[in-house]
Amino acid sequence: MSHPKITTHILGYPRIGERRTLKWALESHWRGTLSAQALHDTAVGVRAKNFAEFAAAGISLPPAGDFTYYDHIADTALMFGQVPSRFGSTANTAENLFVLGRGKNRDGHNIAPLAMKKWFNSNYHYMVPELDAAQPVKLDSARYIALVREALALNPAAKPVIVGPLTFLYLSRGIDEAARLAKADALAGAYQQLLNELKTLGVTWVQIDEPILTLDLPTAWLAAFEPTYHKLKVAGIKLLLTTYFGDLNGNVALAASLPVDGLHIDAIATQDLIAVADRLPDYKVLSVGIIDGRSIWRANLAEKLERLQPVYARLKDRLWLAPSCSLLHLPVDATLETHAPEFLRANLSYARQKLHELAILARGLGEGEAAIASEIAAATAARALLDTHAGRVNADVRGRTDTIAHQSPDRAEAFAVRAAAQQARFHLPLLPTTTIGSFPQTHEIRAARKAFKNNEISAAEYETSMKAEIKHVIEVQEKIGLDALVHGEAERNDMVEYFGEQLDGFAFTQEGWVQSYGSRCVKPPIIWGDVHRAKPMTVEWSRYAQSLSSRPVKGMLTGPVTILFWSFVRDDLSREAVCYQIAEALRHEINDLAAAGIGMIQVDEPAFREGLPLRKKDWAPYLAWAVRAFKHSVKDAARDVQIHTHMCYSEFNDIIEAIAALDADVITIETTRSNMQLLDAFSDFAYPNAIGPGIYDIHAPQIPTVDEIEPRVRLAMEKIPVERLWINPDCGLKTRTWAEVIPSLEAMVAVARTLRSKLN
Ligand code: GLN
Ligand code: ZN
Repeated sequence: MSHPKITTHILGYPRIGERRTLKWALESHWRGTLSAQALHDTAVGVRAKNFAEFAAAGISLPPAGDFTYYDHIADTALMFGQVPSRFGSTANTAENLFVLGRGKNRDGHNIAPLAMKKWFNSNYHYMVPELDAAQPVKLDSARYIALVREALALNPAAKPVIVGPLTFLYLSRGIDEAARLAKADALAGAYQQLLNELKTLGVTWVQIDEPILTLDLPTAWLAAFEPTYHKLKVAGIKLLLTTYFGDLNGNVALAASLPVDGLHIDAIATQDLIAVADRLPDYKVLSVGIIDGRSIWRANLAEKLERLQPVYARLKDRLWLAPSCSLLHLPVDATLETHAPEFLRANLSYARQKLHELAILARGLGEGEAAIASEIAAATAARALLDTHAGRVNADVRGRTDTIAHQSPDRAEAFAVRAAAQQARFHLPLLPTTTIGSFPQTHEIRAARKAFKNNEISAAEYETSMKAEIKHVIEVQEKIGLDALVHGEAERNDMVEYFGEQLDGFAFTQEGWVQSYGSRCVKPPIIWGDVHRAKPMTVEWSRYAQSLSSRPVKGMLTGPVTILFWSFVRDDLSREAVCYQIAEALRHEINDLAAAGIGMIQVDEPAFREGLPLRKKDWAPYLAWAVRAFKHSVKDAARDVQIHTHMCYSEFNDIIEAIAALDADVITIETTRSNMQLLDAFSDFAYPNAIGPGIYDIHAPQIPTVDEIEPRVRLAMEKIPVERLWINPDCGLKTRTWAEVIPSLEAMVAVARTLRSKLN
């Protein structure tokens, strides 16, 4: 008896290649050591290997045109001629793409690259197109068509992927919403032209991504879908409209009724699949994103099959299977994790493994569960290995964290009482000066860390070199005249990894790289077990640093929310529960720091806003547990222990209440880029505690002058009462050189001294 074959497809695939092949090629090309042709050949090789993987797994419709050398949104902007005039040429070439992404120096002046922004709630960053109402839409499709041709030669069923016109416009800036919407018609015309070109290549299905349908969209944008999609209809081309990173919620009816031939939904975020199937006209395909496209964990096949069965009964061959979103957000291949222990390795599923999981599910659905019994058994056995591994569940940790949600997270005294006690302890001047934590990570520091990691130097030698660095950093700060010092973070390679390496429940991968932007990749740690602090993590360094100075030296920790969001997290516990475990570990660290005489402790939370869900209705529960986790970690701090936090590169307006609820004694933020406008959120809200607005941009190599800094501080003084105002740079200084850092901080301190003397 022959069984129906269920259509499988994927929305996109990692571009970086195995072992980050493309990254190395791109960076050599930019350095001028790899020709454009050699770069092209490398990319062709990466894509051919990907297609071989798709074929091996039997994916029915592999994606084409989702590849890009840098970013798919910047590439879309180039393809439709939407390039700001400062770049000069609008020609759709790879070199122009690199300029959009990286900027360039032309005749001695800098052309700024496009801004970068987080892609929805993922850790990928896209380049934000800048539109100009007067710039005509002009299709320049040669590079895209070449990609599609190449793919079709490898598999005639390849399905071109393209960013939808409304998502493209919605994510752009430069002109207001109405002006962006006014471009929809012309853009749809160009898309139609592109679809016609694809048709002549023999393409049938085209995937068009409109992830904005999972957001709370303003009505004007919702209303634009119907006319836009009518305009880009091409006879003979079938469109699969894809939505991901969330459920369609109130937009189901709209998405189901658009003039397209199929709809893809994120089944990880969608509760009721049947409800969507019921809305769909009976000529349309429903692609169910059943495999989590962002989870590194092997899927529970039995459970997924059970979810799919009623949908399949209803839709038959109109049901397609896919991962929830593009596999871009996953590392490439878990079989490269040869050093990982078996209990972990057996449960990792990266992009390549997801292809096979998808194919297995399709077979189980078409042929019956028995046909995949051995695969289900293997998945179950692997999972049992993980679930029963020592450390997966730590009864002690559970006992201490299960009730956190019900405990009062507040410190014993109110801010005013604490502030008085802290002032009695530290005697800080008005406008106290400080830095955010890190000092230049010099070549010597990196070399020492690496040598220690590779067992080339002893622990004692390593300690000696780090202590010498700390001593240097303290001396420099005293000489500059800063009021609250830091130890400089020389011992830290990365602000999450450093803590993960010392906490139980974390694992580190060899090849768990994911594209962050352009050629930059990140390798998040994996939280697989209960998080537990076996021993103090930072106390010795901090104690040593404090012993060198009579001024306060801030203890420096990464906060629970940031550790959580910059890791791959286990899937058997809620994020809230994992975050509380991290908070509990940090609480012990903070108590140990305080007991060691550290009077100021900074708990960095740069990822605090990143965790915000896409839909407003989900904000309150997230903010409630994120605030609780932070507060839990610092709750025991005595009144004269000053808790600092730091956040940067985020908007505060819509979360200012939650920031105030953190009740940190001092918050330092980045404000220079907005010319202190980000402070308005704090002043409008009458933020009650102390604030240190950043008064110079740490990304630029330029040294800020007194004349630049002073007006910024004066602006800040207009917005925030001077008794609660600190002065500091925007963020950590680890990417800068000493030659830049010293005069910059000297200028900062000089401004503080001048203004202080005027105030006194
Ligand atoms: N303390 C960290 C540093 O100074 C903070 C980094 C950050 O905000 N991302 O580097
Ligand atoms: Zn920062």
